[in-house]
Amino acid sequence: MSTTAELIRSSTETGIFIPELVYFEPDALLYPKGKKIRDWANAQGLPIHMTTSHNRITDLPGESELAKYRIAKRTLVVGVRKTLKFDTSKPSAEYAIPIATGCMAHCHYCYLQTTLGAKPYIRIYVNTDQIMEAAAGYISERAPEITRFEAACTSDPVGLEHISGSLAELVEFMADQELGRLRFVTKFHHVDPLLGLRHNGHTRIRFSVNSDYVIKNFEPGTSRFAERIEAAGKIADAGYPLGFIIAPIMWYDGWQDGYYELLEKLSRALPRSVFPNLTFELIQHRYTKTAKNVILKRYPKTKLDMDEETRKYKWGRWGQGKYVYPDEQAGLLKDFLYTHIAEKFPEASVDYFT
Ligand code: SF4
Repeated sequence: MSTTAELIRSSTETGIFIPELVYFEPDALLYPKGKKIRDWANAQGLPIHMTTSHNRITDLPGESELAKYRIAKRTLVVGVRKTLKFDTSKPSAEYAIPIATGCMAHCHYCYLQTTLGAKPYIRIYVNTDQIMEAAAGYISERAPEITRFEAACTSDPVGLEHISGSLAELVEFMADQELGRLRFVTKFHHVDPLLGLRHNGHTRIRFSVNSDYVIKNFEPGTSRFAERIEAAGKIADAGYPLGFIIAPIMWYDGWQDGYYELLEKLSRALPRSVFPNLTFELIQHRYTKTAKNVILKRYPKTKLDMDEETRKYKWGRWGQGKYVYPDEQAGLLKDFLYTHIAEKFPEASVDYFT
Protein backbone atom coordinates (compact mmCIF):
# COMPACT_ATOMS: atom_id res chain seq x y z
CA MET A 1 0.00 0.00 0.00
CA SER A 2 1.47 3.40 -0.96
CA THR A 3 1.67 6.17 1.62
CA THR A 4 0.30 9.62 0.79
CA ALA A 5 3.81 11.04 0.51
CA GLU A 6 4.78 8.30 -1.95
CA LEU A 7 1.68 8.95 -4.01
CA ILE A 8 2.57 12.65 -4.23
CA ARG A 9 6.16 11.97 -5.14
CA SER A 10 5.06 9.55 -7.86
CA SER A 11 3.76 12.43 -9.97
CA THR A 12 4.63 16.08 -10.23
CA GLU A 13 3.30 18.54 -7.72
CA THR A 14 0.44 20.85 -8.71
CA GLY A 15 2.05 24.27 -9.15
CA ILE A 16 0.98 27.55 -7.63
CA PHE A 17 -1.13 29.90 -9.72
CA ILE A 18 0.78 32.40 -11.84
CA PRO A 19 -1.57 34.60 -13.87
CA GLU A 20 -0.90 35.56 -17.46
CA LEU A 21 -2.38 39.04 -17.21
CA VAL A 22 -2.55 41.42 -14.26
CA TYR A 23 -4.73 44.50 -13.94
CA PHE A 24 -4.68 47.12 -11.18
CA GLU A 25 -7.16 49.75 -10.18
CA PRO A 26 -5.07 52.91 -9.60
CA ASP A 27 -6.34 53.20 -6.00
CA ALA A 28 -5.21 49.66 -5.22
CA LEU A 29 -1.62 50.86 -5.54
CA LEU A 30 -2.16 53.23 -2.60
CA TYR A 31 -2.40 50.21 -0.28
CA PRO A 32 0.62 48.21 0.94
CA LYS A 33 -0.96 44.98 -0.35
CA GLY A 34 -1.44 46.53 -3.80
CA LYS A 35 2.20 47.62 -3.93
CA LYS A 36 3.35 44.21 -2.74
CA ILE A 37 1.35 42.44 -5.46
CA ARG A 38 2.68 44.86 -8.10
CA ASP A 39 6.25 44.07 -6.99
CA TRP A 40 5.46 40.36 -7.14
CA ALA A 41 3.98 40.68 -10.64
CA ASN A 42 7.03 42.65 -11.79
CA ALA A 43 9.34 40.03 -10.36
CA GLN A 44 7.41 37.38 -12.32
CA GLY A 45 7.81 39.47 -15.48
CA LEU A 46 4.02 39.74 -15.93
CA PRO A 47 2.52 42.46 -18.10
CA ILE A 48 0.64 44.99 -15.95
CA HIS A 49 -2.40 46.89 -17.15
CA MET A 50 -4.48 49.52 -15.41
CA THR A 51 -8.27 49.47 -15.16
CA THR A 52 -10.73 52.03 -13.86
CA SER A 53 -12.75 49.37 -12.03
CA HIS A 54 -12.14 45.78 -10.96
CA ASN A 55 -15.69 45.08 -12.09
CA ARG A 56 -15.11 46.17 -15.69
CA ILE A 57 -12.42 44.36 -17.63
CA THR A 58 -13.56 44.59 -21.22
CA ASP A 59 -10.41 44.13 -23.29
CA LEU A 60 -9.47 40.52 -22.58
CA PRO A 61 -7.85 38.87 -25.58
CA GLY A 62 -9.44 35.86 -27.30
CA GLU A 63 -11.24 35.21 -30.58
CA SER A 64 -14.22 33.40 -29.13
CA GLU A 65 -16.24 33.53 -25.92
CA LEU A 66 -14.59 30.30 -24.82
CA ALA A 67 -11.09 31.64 -25.47
CA LYS A 68 -11.94 34.79 -23.49
CA TYR A 69 -13.26 32.64 -20.64
CA ARG A 70 -10.06 30.62 -20.51
CA ILE A 71 -7.85 33.69 -20.43
CA ALA A 72 -10.13 35.31 -17.82
CA LYS A 73 -9.40 32.34 -15.56
CA ARG A 74 -5.71 33.29 -15.84
CA THR A 75 -6.25 37.01 -15.29
CA LEU A 76 -5.70 38.66 -11.94
CA VAL A 77 -7.39 41.95 -11.13
CA VAL A 78 -6.28 43.83 -8.04
CA GLY A 79 -8.77 46.29 -6.63
CA VAL A 80 -10.38 47.93 -3.63
CA ARG A 81 -13.49 46.26 -2.24
CA LYS A 82 -16.12 48.99 -2.06
CA THR A 83 -19.10 47.02 -0.75
CA LEU A 84 -18.39 46.23 2.85
CA LYS A 85 -21.83 44.84 3.47
CA PHE A 86 -21.31 41.08 3.80
CA ASP A 87 -23.62 38.50 2.25
CA THR A 88 -25.04 35.79 4.46
CA SER A 89 -23.54 32.33 4.06
CA LYS A 90 -25.88 29.65 5.38
CA PRO A 91 -25.51 26.88 6.38
CA SER A 92 -21.76 26.94 6.95
CA ALA A 93 -21.41 30.41 8.52
CA GLU A 94 -23.30 33.59 9.33
CA TYR A 95 -21.45 35.78 6.82
CA ALA A 96 -19.28 35.58 3.73
CA ILE A 97 -16.11 37.63 4.20
CA PRO A 98 -15.03 39.06 0.84
CA ILE A 99 -11.27 38.91 0.25
CA ALA A 100 -11.26 37.58 -3.32
CA THR A 101 -13.62 36.70 -6.15
CA GLY A 102 -13.08 34.11 -8.87
CA CYS A 103 -10.91 31.02 -9.18
CA MET A 104 -8.32 29.69 -11.59
CA ALA A 105 -9.52 26.08 -11.42
CA HIS A 106 -11.98 24.60 -13.90
CA CYS A 107 -14.45 22.55 -11.88
CA HIS A 108 -17.26 21.94 -14.33
CA TYR A 109 -19.98 22.13 -11.68
CA CYS A 110 -18.71 25.26 -9.90
CA TYR A 111 -21.50 27.68 -9.01
CA LEU A 112 -19.21 30.63 -9.75
CA GLN A 113 -19.96 29.89 -13.42
CA THR A 114 -23.35 31.44 -12.87
CA THR A 115 -22.78 33.83 -9.99
CA LEU A 116 -19.81 35.54 -11.68
CA GLY A 117 -21.48 35.47 -15.09
CA ALA A 118 -19.42 37.42 -17.59
CA LYS A 119 -16.69 38.25 -15.05
CA PRO A 120 -14.87 35.00 -14.34
CA TYR A 121 -11.50 36.74 -13.83
CA ILE A 122 -9.86 36.64 -10.42
CA ARG A 123 -10.12 39.64 -8.14
CA ILE A 124 -8.05 40.21 -5.03
CA TYR A 125 -9.07 43.05 -2.72
CA VAL A 126 -6.29 45.06 -1.11
CA ASN A 127 -8.24 46.83 1.65
CA THR A 128 -8.18 43.92 4.09
CA ASP A 129 -8.03 46.32 7.08
CA GLN A 130 -11.42 47.78 6.15
CA ILE A 131 -12.82 44.30 5.53
CA MET A 132 -11.66 43.19 9.01
CA GLU A 133 -13.11 46.35 10.54
CA ALA A 134 -16.45 45.52 8.95
CA ALA A 135 -16.16 41.96 10.33
CA ALA A 136 -15.55 43.37 13.82
CA GLY A 137 -18.80 45.35 13.42
CA TYR A 138 -20.76 42.20 12.56
CA ILE A 139 -19.22 40.39 15.54
CA SER A 140 -20.31 43.16 17.95
CA GLU A 141 -23.82 43.21 16.51
CA ARG A 142 -24.30 39.52 17.33
CA ALA A 143 -22.53 39.44 20.70
CA PRO A 144 -22.70 37.39 22.89
CA GLU A 145 -23.34 34.88 20.07
CA ILE A 146 -20.37 33.59 18.09
CA THR A 147 -20.19 34.90 14.51
CA ARG A 148 -18.65 32.70 11.82
CA PHE A 149 -17.22 34.07 8.59
CA GLU A 150 -16.74 31.97 5.46
CA ALA A 151 -13.82 33.21 3.32
CA ALA A 152 -14.33 30.84 0.38
CA CYS A 153 -17.83 31.72 -0.86
CA THR A 154 -16.70 33.40 -4.05
CA SER A 155 -13.20 32.04 -4.52
CA ASP A 156 -10.64 29.46 -3.39
CA PRO A 157 -8.47 31.81 -1.34
CA VAL A 158 -5.80 29.20 -0.48
CA GLY A 159 -4.93 29.06 -4.19
CA LEU A 160 -4.28 32.83 -4.08
CA GLU A 161 -2.55 33.09 -0.72
CA HIS A 162 0.98 33.24 -2.17
CA ILE A 163 -0.10 36.41 -3.99
CA SER A 164 -2.47 38.06 -1.51
CA GLY A 165 -1.47 37.00 2.02
CA SER A 166 -5.07 37.86 2.96
CA LEU A 167 -5.91 34.61 4.74
CA ALA A 168 -2.91 35.05 7.02
CA GLU A 169 -4.21 38.49 8.00
CA LEU A 170 -7.71 37.15 8.65
CA VAL A 171 -6.47 34.16 10.64
CA GLU A 172 -4.42 36.35 12.99
CA PHE A 173 -7.20 38.93 13.25
CA MET A 174 -9.72 36.23 14.17
CA ALA A 175 -7.33 34.71 16.72
CA ASP A 176 -7.95 37.83 18.82
CA GLN A 177 -11.74 37.83 18.40
CA GLU A 178 -13.34 36.10 21.32
CA LEU A 179 -16.63 35.85 19.44
CA GLY A 180 -15.37 35.61 15.87
CA ARG A 181 -14.52 32.48 13.88
CA LEU A 182 -13.09 32.09 10.42
CA ARG A 183 -13.55 29.16 8.07
CA PHE A 184 -12.65 28.45 4.51
CA VAL A 185 -12.55 25.49 2.18
CA THR A 186 -10.06 24.61 -0.49
CA LYS A 187 -9.15 22.20 -3.25
CA PHE A 188 -5.53 23.35 -3.18
CA HIS A 189 -2.67 22.03 -1.11
CA HIS A 190 -0.62 25.24 -0.93
CA VAL A 191 -1.09 25.69 2.81
CA ASP A 192 2.51 26.35 3.87
CA PRO A 193 1.96 30.13 4.39
CA LEU A 194 -0.74 29.26 6.96
CA LEU A 195 1.20 26.79 9.08
CA GLY A 196 3.11 29.08 11.42
CA LEU A 197 0.29 31.52 12.11
CA ARG A 198 -1.20 32.37 15.51
CA HIS A 199 -4.77 31.10 15.08
CA ASN A 200 -5.95 30.36 18.62
CA GLY A 201 -8.17 27.58 17.28
CA HIS A 202 -10.52 30.19 15.79
CA THR A 203 -10.07 29.17 12.16
CA ARG A 204 -11.43 25.95 10.76
CA ILE A 205 -9.84 24.85 7.51
CA ARG A 206 -11.74 22.35 5.40
CA PHE A 207 -10.63 20.45 2.36
CA SER A 208 -13.06 19.75 -0.41
CA VAL A 209 -12.78 16.08 -1.31
CA ASN A 210 -14.65 13.69 -3.55
CA SER A 211 -14.60 10.26 -5.10
CA ASP A 212 -11.93 9.52 -7.72
CA TYR A 213 -14.60 9.59 -10.41
CA VAL A 214 -15.69 13.14 -9.57
CA ILE A 215 -12.17 14.52 -9.11
CA LYS A 216 -10.94 12.93 -12.33
CA ASN A 217 -13.83 13.99 -14.51
CA PHE A 218 -14.89 17.34 -13.14
CA GLU A 219 -12.09 19.10 -11.25
CA PRO A 220 -9.34 20.11 -13.70
CA GLY A 221 -6.84 22.62 -12.41
CA THR A 222 -7.10 21.70 -8.71
CA SER A 223 -4.60 19.91 -6.47
CA ARG A 224 -4.79 16.13 -6.57
CA PHE A 225 -6.53 14.18 -3.81
CA ALA A 226 -3.27 12.92 -2.30
CA GLU A 227 -1.92 16.47 -2.22
CA ARG A 228 -5.05 17.75 -0.46
CA ILE A 229 -4.83 15.00 2.13
CA GLU A 230 -1.18 15.63 2.83
CA ALA A 231 -2.04 19.33 3.29
CA ALA A 232 -4.89 18.37 5.65
CA GLY A 233 -2.35 16.48 7.78
CA LYS A 234 -0.13 19.59 7.93
CA ILE A 235 -3.09 21.76 8.92
CA ALA A 236 -3.98 19.33 11.71
CA ASP A 237 -0.34 19.30 12.88
CA ALA A 238 -0.44 23.09 13.01
CA GLY A 239 -3.33 22.76 15.49
CA TYR A 240 -6.11 24.14 13.31
CA PRO A 241 -9.58 22.65 13.60
CA LEU A 242 -9.95 20.54 10.46
CA GLY A 243 -12.88 19.52 8.34
CA PHE A 244 -13.89 18.00 5.02
CA ILE A 245 -16.57 19.07 2.63
CA ILE A 246 -17.75 16.30 0.36
CA ALA A 247 -19.24 18.25 -2.51
CA PRO A 248 -20.80 17.91 -4.89
CA ILE A 249 -21.98 14.43 -3.99
CA MET A 250 -22.94 12.75 -7.24
CA TRP A 251 -25.07 9.80 -8.15
CA TYR A 252 -23.32 7.76 -10.85
CA ASP A 253 -22.75 4.09 -11.59
CA GLY A 254 -20.56 2.85 -8.76
CA TRP A 255 -21.09 5.82 -6.40
CA GLN A 256 -21.23 3.56 -3.34
CA ASP A 257 -17.78 2.12 -4.07
CA GLY A 258 -16.44 5.58 -4.92
CA TYR A 259 -17.61 7.23 -1.70
CA TYR A 260 -16.73 4.23 0.45
CA GLU A 261 -13.22 4.26 -0.95
CA LEU A 262 -12.98 8.02 -0.35
CA LEU A 263 -13.81 7.62 3.36
CA GLU A 264 -11.52 4.62 3.61
CA LYS A 265 -8.60 6.57 2.09
CA LEU A 266 -9.26 9.54 4.38
CA SER A 267 -9.35 7.40 7.49
CA ARG A 268 -6.12 5.65 6.52
CA ALA A 269 -4.26 8.84 5.66
CA LEU A 270 -5.17 10.94 8.70
CA PRO A 271 -3.65 10.59 12.14
CA ARG A 272 -6.21 9.32 14.69
CA SER A 273 -5.49 12.31 16.90
CA VAL A 274 -7.45 14.60 14.53
CA PHE A 275 -10.62 12.45 14.51
CA PRO A 276 -12.38 13.89 17.59
CA ASN A 277 -12.60 17.47 16.35
CA LEU A 278 -13.19 16.61 12.70
CA THR A 279 -16.26 17.95 10.89
CA PHE A 280 -17.92 16.86 7.67
CA GLU A 281 -20.22 18.95 5.48
CA LEU A 282 -22.16 17.15 2.76
CA ILE A 283 -23.58 18.87 -0.29
CA GLN A 284 -25.40 17.09 -3.11
CA HIS A 285 -24.93 18.10 -6.71
CA ARG A 286 -27.52 20.60 -7.91
CA TYR A 287 -27.76 22.99 -10.81
CA THR A 288 -29.99 25.66 -12.25
CA LYS A 289 -31.14 25.96 -15.87
CA THR A 290 -28.88 28.99 -16.28
CA ALA A 291 -25.90 27.07 -14.88
CA LYS A 292 -26.53 24.18 -17.25
CA ASN A 293 -26.47 26.49 -20.28
CA VAL A 294 -23.26 28.17 -19.18
CA ILE A 295 -21.54 24.89 -18.28
CA LEU A 296 -22.38 23.30 -21.63
CA LYS A 297 -20.89 26.29 -23.44
CA ARG A 298 -17.71 26.33 -21.38
CA TYR A 299 -17.17 22.59 -21.02
CA PRO A 300 -19.04 21.19 -24.03
CA LYS A 301 -17.69 17.67 -23.54
CA THR A 302 -18.52 17.46 -19.86
CA LYS A 303 -19.89 14.20 -18.51
CA LEU A 304 -21.82 16.12 -15.84
CA ASP A 305 -25.25 14.61 -15.47
CA MET A 306 -27.75 17.43 -15.88
CA ASP A 307 -30.81 15.59 -17.11
CA GLU A 308 -33.92 17.30 -15.75
CA GLU A 309 -35.95 14.13 -16.36
CA THR A 310 -34.11 12.37 -13.56
CA ARG A 311 -34.11 15.29 -11.12
CA LYS A 312 -36.48 16.98 -8.75
CA TYR A 313 -37.17 20.70 -9.18
CA LYS A 314 -36.78 22.68 -6.01
CA TRP A 315 -38.23 26.18 -6.03
CA GLY A 316 -35.74 28.87 -5.10
CA ARG A 317 -36.15 32.04 -3.08
CA TRP A 318 -35.42 34.38 -5.97
CA GLY A 319 -37.56 32.60 -8.54
CA GLN A 320 -34.64 30.59 -9.94
CA GLY A 321 -35.18 26.98 -8.85
CA LYS A 322 -32.60 24.22 -8.69
CA TYR A 323 -32.53 20.67 -9.96
CA VAL A 324 -31.65 18.33 -7.10
CA TYR A 325 -31.78 14.55 -6.70
CA PRO A 326 -35.25 13.14 -6.05
CA ASP A 327 -35.96 12.46 -2.37
CA GLU A 328 -35.36 8.74 -2.61
CA GLN A 329 -31.90 9.12 -4.18
CA ALA A 330 -31.00 11.98 -1.83
CA GLY A 331 -32.05 9.80 1.12
CA LEU A 332 -29.86 6.93 -0.06
CA LEU A 333 -26.84 9.20 -0.54
CA LYS A 334 -27.37 10.73 2.87
CA ASP A 335 -27.84 7.44 4.72
CA PHE A 336 -24.82 5.91 3.01
CA LEU A 337 -22.52 8.77 3.90
CA TYR A 338 -23.77 9.19 7.46
CA THR A 339 -23.40 5.45 8.10
CA HIS A 340 -19.87 5.17 6.78
CA ILE A 341 -18.65 8.44 8.30
CA ALA A 342 -19.91 7.18 11.68
CA GLU A 343 -18.18 3.84 11.11
CA LYS A 344 -14.80 5.29 10.08
CA PHE A 345 -14.80 8.48 12.16
CA PRO A 346 -16.97 7.73 15.21
CA GLU A 347 -15.99 10.93 17.04
CA ALA A 348 -16.41 13.28 14.06
CA SER A 349 -19.54 15.35 13.52
CA VAL A 350 -21.54 15.90 10.36
CA ASP A 351 -22.57 19.57 10.32
CA TYR A 352 -25.19 19.27 7.60
CA PHE A 353 -26.32 17.44 4.48
CA THR A 354 -27.96 19.63 1.90
S1 SF4 B 1 -11.80 25.06 -6.79
FE1 SF4 B 1 -13.79 25.68 -5.95
S2 SF4 B 1 -14.01 27.82 -6.55
FE2 SF4 B 1 -12.42 26.95 -7.84
S3 SF4 B 1 -13.46 26.27 -9.71
FE3 SF4 B 1 -13.37 24.52 -8.30
S4 SF4 B 1 -15.32 24.59 -7.18
FE4 SF4 B 1 -15.03 26.60 -8.14
